[in-house]
Amino acid sequence: MIAEIIAAGSEMLTPHRQDTNGLFLTAQLNDLGVQVAFKTIVGDNLEHLTASARTALSRADIVLFSGGLGPTEDDLTREAAAAALGISLRRDPAILTSLYKRFAARQMVMPPNNAKQADILDGATVLVNPKGSAPGQFVDTSVDGFRKIVILLPGPPDELKPLFEQAVKPLLAATLPPRYIARRVLRMPLIPESHVDARTAPIYREYTDVETTILAGHGEIQLHFVAAKATLAEAQARVNELASRIEAEMEDAIFSSQNESLEEVVLLMLGLRHLTLAAAESATGGLLASRLTAVPGSSRYFLGGAVVYNDALKTEFAGVPAELVATSGPVSEPVARALAEGIRTRTGASLGIAITGIAGPTPGTGPDAEKPIGLVYIALADAKETIVKELHLPGDRDRIRWWATQHALELIRRTLLEADRL
Ligand code: ATP
Ligand code: MG
Repeated sequence: MIAEIIAAGSEMLTPHRQDTNGLFLTAQLNDLGVQVAFKTIVGDNLEHLTASARTALSRADIVLFSGGLGPTEDDLTREAAAAALGISLRRDPAILTSLYKRFAARQMVMPPNNAKQADILDGATVLVNPKGSAPGQFVDTSVDGFRKIVILLPGPPDELKPLFEQAVKPLLAATLPPRYIARRVLRMPLIPESHVDARTAPIYREYTDVETTILAGHGEIQLHFVAAKATLAEAQARVNELASRIEAEMEDAIFSSQNESLEEVVLLMLGLRHLTLAAAESATGGLLASRLTAVPGSSRYFLGGAVVYNDALKTEFAGVPAELVATSGPVSEPVARALAEGIRTRTGASLGIAITGIAGPTPGTGPDAEKPIGLVYIALADAKETIVKELHLPGDRDRIRWWATQHALELIRRTLLEADRL
């Protein structure tokens, strides 16, 4: 069973509005084991809407319309669906009465246009819309000998969502064979998408009954696996088997197999080893601390730190010798090292992490004037040694700052994993 969603509304063909109903409906359909194969956005034009409806009926088993059920001239979904299905509209007296009552309750006379909201596709189940005037419609019919389910829903999200959940979902669930969905997510930091795909595709391609999606962004690759089966146990077994094989292939590159964030994993690892962390941040201005403290319970392992944006504060809060900053420049290997060591000793943490860099768009000053934008040093200090990494990060200020924190977290994770091996 595949579905097509048709979002009706000229506003979504402008730069100002997006079809967010399509995202909601896709998630809901996926939960029912239905894949969305096509999405169409079409303006408020009868000819275009009818053509889209015909195309959808030729290629999908379930066609959902969002929008265009209002009373105005440009609300044409009922007419288009009727034309494409070759069935007629009938004006439902009960709905008409309820429309009149709705207006009467507000001491208003119903404009004649509103009457068309009582037009129902012949044979449709009427879906009462408690939030608005236009009811939804559910048609289970056949076109050229193929079974087709056609659903009309109002466009406003606060009407469409409850109507789908309360009326459409039970109808679809009763119509479709029982399907249970299992999902798994594996997450990997700082690794190219092409690299992940080259290594994992030979494995996940064997699992034609599991839908695999690779999502890349924010210095992270996510592999999503979804299986739909007649029982939940079967669906879970299938995604778990695939996830285990990918884990065996990608090993330590995977930081999360239960969808935890990188900061959560780092905090968990610190906790298991009874270690604490403190941070001295220049270029990232507290972004790393913010990510860590966003995790509930982080205070046991993340002590805090300092935003040492100004050179004098690098000395004051992290004990970096002023001469060092003056000679090497604040964005340098020795300053990163001194920041990590300084914040560690000042806070009494087991580990000190430091980030210093040039996030742009303006270049550095003094000894840093010639250094390129995107140059970042990350340092991690424990009682015995300090590791410093030099990075050259592409992109704009936001991207450089985010990736710097991603590298810092990954340096901590890798270092702790390495220490376990010794
Ligand atoms: P109404 O009775 O309010 O006219 P309708 O069923 O005719 O309802 P539309 O006129 O198409 O719906 O849309 C009403 C509003 O709902 C739009 O202005 C828009 O804000 C929102 N909307 C419509 N379609 C979508 C969509 N696909 N995603 C998100 N919002 C939408
Ligand atoms: Mg409308």
